[in-house]
Amino acid sequence: MSENCFVRQEASLDIIANVTNFCSECYNVIQEHEVIFYDMQNYRYLCETCKQSFQEKLDSNCELIENETEPLF
Ligand SMILES: [Zn+2]
Repeated sequence: MSENCFVRQEASLDIIANVTNFCSECYNVIQEHEVIFYDMQNYRYLCETCKQSFQEKLDSNCELIENETEPLF
């Protein structure tokens, strides 16, 4: 079983209101409906730009999960 690194999600109002409203790396404000990525190793949300730069450094075994319909929270 490969290790999952990021979960792709669309930022809902629930996430923005209850979890985070900014990227944990660059602190850009997350807008509703923006595509965001949950970092499963560090338990934080990243914007697409930061996720891409992190993914390049991570193990290639990491697997991106497409999960836009089932929220984590
Ligand atoms: Zn960012």
